[in-house]
Amino acid sequence: MSKEKLKGYKEIPIGGLITEPGSAKKFKTGDWRSFRPVWLQDKCTHCMICPPSCPDDCIPTEGNLPNIKRKETDFDYCKGCGICAQVCPFKAIEMKEESGFIK
Ligand code: SF4
Ligand code: SF4
Repeated sequence: MSKEKLKGYKEIPIGGLITEPGSAKKFKTGDWRSFRPVWLQDKCTHCMICPPSCPDDCIPTEGNLPNIKRKETDFDYCKGCGICAQVCPFKAIEMKEESGFIK
């Protein structure tokens, strides 16, 4: 969570409009997660179905077609919705309880 000073109600735009683009990057929402998508690299074929399916755009890729590869999930922003695991045709993503990863 950002340590930014919270705005008073008089400073908030009418209707709570978001007036600046890219503001979601300021807030690391990964700590909302109760389930974590575990990427099983040995099963992954880099079919590229999961990266555009993620509503938080937190499955990074590298390279260009036809040699594009997915990389590890950005857990600063992954909310654990499980969509990536649902869409993966190779069962290369398993949802696991986040509590098992807390140190
Ligand atoms: S669990 Fe949801 S937010 Fe996290 S990487 Fe998968 S699709 Fe994205
Ligand atoms: S959908 Fe599955 S196989 Fe395809 S890139 Fe994602 S994890 Fe890999």
